[in-house]
Amino acid sequence: MTGKNKQSAWGVLPEEWKPICRELGVPAYRADQITVALHRNLAMSWQEVTTLSKDLRQTLSENFTLEPLKIVRTHTSADRVEKLLLECDDGERIETVLIPSKGRVTQCISTQAGCAFRCAFCASGMNGLNRSLEAGEIVAQVISACQLMREKPELVPFKAIGAPRPGNIVVMGMGEPFDNYDQVIRALRILNDQRGINIGARHITISTCGVVPGIKRLGEEGLQFELSVSLHAPNDELRSQIMPVNKKWPIRELLDVCNAYTAKTGRIVTYEYTLVRDFNDQPQHVAALIQLLRRCHCKVNLIPLSPVAGYSGRQPDERRCLEFLDALHKARVNVTMRKSRGKDVNAACGQLRVAEAGG
Ligand code: SAH
Repeated sequence: MTGKNKQSAWGVLPEEWKPICRELGVPAYRADQITVALHRNLAMSWQEVTTLSKDLRQTLSENFTLEPLKIVRTHTSADRVEKLLLECDDGERIETVLIPSKGRVTQCISTQAGCAFRCAFCASGMNGLNRSLEAGEIVAQVISACQLMREKPELVPFKAIGAPRPGNIVVMGMGEPFDNYDQVIRALRILNDQRGINIGARHITISTCGVVPGIKRLGEEGLQFELSVSLHAPNDELRSQIMPVNKKWPIRELLDVCNAYTAKTGRIVTYEYTLVRDFNDQPQHVAALIQLLRRCHCKVNLIPLSPVAGYSGRQPDERRCLEFLDALHKARVNVTMRKSRGKDVNAACGQLRVAEAGG
């Protein structure tokens, strides 16, 4: 393993360091030291890891890279959302967002550079998919954010003991997580591992546009991550107009797999519903949505559309959004409305894109 083929240390699960040490002829107790140095102390280079001998640092650095992704640029929105433009080793650029709230930082991470699913209202898919990210690159987004929070403590709304880290992860940045299933689940296992970065499973949310086989697989993993599903319309006719994925996996199939997921795991699915003026925000739409979800044990999260260039849809006025919310509420649907922050720096839901990353 040399040069570009070097593996990222951030893509290694804590339990994998033992066999790696064995292979490198290094005593097994070193594995724990490596995990502590990387995940607890967030070492950003092998040279920093002074608990390891110089020789061992040398061996490790010949085999594994330990740099976080390069932070090309950051933007701070008026409502204190921080957007990071990051660069991968091959020059591919991606975005991640830090959202401070209630004494925690929620980090929104990307799973692909671009996206193949082309939802009409989402900037991430407008230029198609460049490539999927490796697990190490997904974890490294969190490490880069930790690095930034270390340098800029004013970003952190809490007194951090040790290195500051996000309290919540939402897999809602660029890309479709279930179009990169193995690497995404590996990355989330690494972030979740108690010996490591230790972000609780219930503080990690995966959002999918409705890739049915991915939901099925996740249900079989025995993991406790939160699952959100982008629904956005109460019937196939409307949903297919804005989400091409609906032609492959229509609403009935999607709801069936989600209900099976809940039955199997006991975990409730959250349906995301982006409100678009006059398109899916009318009384008949909310009535159809209530009808659709009547027997589902689920939650609904309403997101007023964030404006994106390339989509002509508009956000409904606030009264309409509140009426929609209220109708669901009255029908005893468990519903919340997401305050999407960061719009002035294009860091809000659906605004992350490769074009911005490119220029
Ligand atoms: N591919 C995944 C995750 C990325 S998008 C998915 O589709 O779920 C995260 C959430 O933001 C999804 O619910 C998505 O539909 C929503 N979203 C995308 N574009 C948006 C926009 N312009 N305004 C509001 N929400 C948007």
